[in-house]
Amino acid sequence: MDIEKVFENNETWISQRLKNNPDYFKNLAKGQNPDILYIGCSDSRVTAEDLMGVNPGDVFVHRNIANMVISIDLNAMSVLNYAVDNLEVDHVVVCGHYFCGGVKAAMQSADLGILNPWLRNIRDVYRLHKDELNKISDENERYNRLVELNVQEQCINLLKTAVVQKAVRKRGMRVHGWVFDVSTGKLIDLKIDFKSILKEITEIYDLGV
Ligand SMILES: [Zn+2]
Repeated sequence: MDIEKVFENNETWISQRLKNNPDYFKNLAKGQNPDILYIGCSDSRVTAEDLMGVNPGDVFVHRNIANMVISIDLNAMSVLNYAVDNLEVDHVVVCGHYFCGGVKAAMQSADLGILNPWLRNIRDVYRLHKDELNKISDENERYNRLVELNVQEQCINLLKTAVVQKAVRKRGMRVHGWVFDVSTGKLIDLKIDFKSILKEITEIYDLGV
């Protein structure tokens, strides 16, 4: 890819936007009021805004390897707190994707250096759901299922935080688990049953906020 092409593309994009609305960028500069916080994978094939067909200003985005929500990750927690408390988003989405290299790596026995502690969180998801996963004989199917279960566990990690517990209770903010299928372009709502999950975890993780 010619890196200079990026700037040409940018000029084309600017003129397209201005053609539809001459005040487009003037309005963007006024501020943001997104309804959704999207937490997704850094994978270059999973383009947050593009796959959702949304515009600048619509979605607050955080991406990392394998869409993880880790309580001591200052980056993710800063994004989460700002989006929920300051921007007051109505929805927080964790979006995983099939063919996720991070999830694949966590299924293999290999020393990946600095990635080891990051991927260990996915290995923990595997351990939590070992009985279900080990029953799946087809390796690709097991891989896909781990992608889904990882999304579910990251949603649960969101629900363990004070900021999310408070926003869910006080203003009905919702958490969603999605998966993007790279092979079809389809965005799938996992329809995770948070009510029953909350029933199970509240006893332990309720922060009383
Ligand atoms: Zn990925």
